[in-house]
Amino acid sequence: MELRYPSYYKTFACIAGDCPDSCCHEWEVQVDAASAGRYRSMAGPLGDALREHLYDEDGETYLRNVENRCPMWRSDGLCRIQAEQGHEALCTVCQQFPRLRHDYGDLLELGLELSCPEAARLILESRLELVTEVVPGGEEPEYDGEIMDILKKSRPYALALLENDRYTVPERLRLLLMFGYHIQGAIDGAEPAAFDPDAALREAGQFAGPGDAGLLAEYYLGLDLLTRRWQDRLNAVTAPRWEEALCRMAQYGVCRHWFQAVSDWDLACRVKMLLSGCALAARLPGALRDNAQLWSKEIENSAQNLDTILDGAYAEPALTDANLLGLLA
Ligand code: SF4
Repeated sequence: MELRYPSYYKTFACIAGDCPDSCCHEWEVQVDAASAGRYRSMAGPLGDALREHLYDEDGETYLRNVENRCPMWRSDGLCRIQAEQGHEALCTVCQQFPRLRHDYGDLLELGLELSCPEAARLILESRLELVTEVVPGGEEPEYDGEIMDILKKSRPYALALLENDRYTVPERLRLLLMFGYHIQGAIDGAEPAAFDPDAALREAGQFAGPGDAGLLAEYYLGLDLLTRRWQDRLNAVTAPRWEEALCRMAQYGVCRHWFQAVSDWDLACRVKMLLSGCALAARLPGALRDNAQLWSKEIENSAQNLDTILDGAYAEPALTDANLLGLLA
């Protein structure tokens, strides 16, 4: 089978106590059944502490937040379970975070989550290079081969568009939306045609409205909010700063979400979700890296928020093509 990962993947190392927004902060960790069983039968003070904070809801087990943080998070920034029992004792989510794994049967893609500050640094500071290896294993894919073929052939072009310096940063982001629709047409059965970026930009200009950043921020404020920091930033949208890192953020999103369209044949809604994040990250106060990391923490790590945006991508006034194209200018 093919194994693919960005070149920075293997250089990631958790910065633990130096992390500015630890994954042990604000999230309630979902504990897999095997780990929950181990924790509940663990002897000694660590077992007592785990039993005190584990709870079940809707058939899942969670570790309850205490004062908005994981109760296993020590004051030195390290995890008590890891410190006392080693990495293997961590539950699956904590062992894997921020590593992403998408298994398509004949293709395994690995990546890092933008919601981890150290991963965000690597993602936004590194030129994207995808490494491909052939490794043993794999199984017969269950996806629709024709659709996956379209997605596999088009993704490298989308990634290349985002680093084409013939175009400005907002132009490249606009082009991503137009190219997403172009490939959506192919998925929907349109005759194959070449994509002409210059013509696409002219067309985007005709579609673009004035771009209402307040409307987009208001829409995001209506989602399920996790952190006060995100809420405060959404309430303070400002003029856009078109930093090159926005294209790296978009490349990260294309790597993570493009092939997911094989599940429901809807690529355009994923591109719109991603570009709404870029349009916001450009406009929120504070460093772009922090804005991008918070966006991912609030949206990509919440199945509820992600589904809401994907479902609303065509009907929500904040997410219309006219508004997004207007904001990417
Ligand atoms: S968010 Fe990333 S860098 Fe920070 S503690 Fe978690 S894994 Fe480590």
